[in-house]
Amino acid sequence: MSRKIAFIGLGIMGRPMALNLVRAGHHVTGHNLTREPVDALVAAGGHGADSVAGAVADAEVVITMLPADPQVEQVLLGPDGVLAHVPAGTLVIDMSSITPQTSVAVAAAAAEKGVRTLDAPVSGGEAGAVEAVLSVMVGGAAADFAEARPLFDALGTTVVHVGPAGAGQTVKAANQLIVAVHLQVLAEAVVFLENTGVDLAAALDVLGGGLAGSTVLDRKKTNMLTREFAPGFRIDLHHKDMGIVTEAARAVGAPLPLGTLAAQLVASARANGDGPLDHSALLRGVERLSGREVAPLG
Ligand code: NAD
Repeated sequence: MSRKIAFIGLGIMGRPMALNLVRAGHHVTGHNLTREPVDALVAAGGHGADSVAGAVADAEVVITMLPADPQVEQVLLGPDGVLAHVPAGTLVIDMSSITPQTSVAVAAAAAEKGVRTLDAPVSGGEAGAVEAVLSVMVGGAAADFAEARPLFDALGTTVVHVGPAGAGQTVKAANQLIVAVHLQVLAEAVVFLENTGVDLAAALDVLGGGLAGSTVLDRKKTNMLTREFAPGFRIDLHHKDMGIVTEAARAVGAPLPLGTLAAQLVASARANGDGPLDHSALLRGVERLSGREVAPLG
């Protein structure tokens, strides 16, 4: 069934996701801070709007894919935001990675207006968005999840309802913890292997086939081999996510010894100016620790 969808936030992730919804036969109206990705969506068969109000007019479903809590709060709850413009019954799905508390607050504010919400953050990176193979972790009411399921299936291959409002964000926080630690040890293994003089490409190939193999290794080994760190997933955003997971874990008394160390290394990467780079650039931090010259940013 074709749905009328407003899609707000057409960045690295939102742009290919909106395109996949167009390909699945939906009527998608995109809105973004900058115009270029809106024009690209229109060229691909979608529609464009210059404002939130324009994007959500007539929308049955509103999807947001924004950087962090402040943008989600502004776009959903702000005076000229989504809740100010949509009628009761609309389904609002926030796919950004934000704090569980903000998702719960959004759900409560929306419920007062009879608007339904899901928090549905994703994992799989830019490639996963382009290939429509994302993992989608969804918090909210089961009936709303069932209604949104065909949309999620157009975006990903692993789609799971994990609990009530905010639960999707909690699972995403765990995801970011696991990915950060994996990337850091992959970077450490790369420097170790290079220092020994073995063929790094061959080593990563064989490691990928064993117990050390992982999606992180598959998706990020080329970045590490070539030192190409165009994002992808920016270190700035992973820093935001490490703040979310360390705070959420602290609140429930869950110690994160390795996670907090990884969070410090992500913060250090940022302090060294690597925030705009892909998170595989954690390798640069390991290189700094090893006394290597790190290439200046272009
Ligand atoms: P991005 O910065 O590339 O995209 C965000 C987009 O939102 C930008 O195009 C920006 O112009 C737009 N935007 C910001 N404020 C806006 C506003 N007020 N109104 C309209 N548009 C606005 O970020 P991204 O990498 O696409 O990530 C989006 C979210 O998805 C983040 O929460 C991130 O943590 C999460 N995420 C990213 C990845 C990844 O690999 N990049 C993977 C999984 C999850």
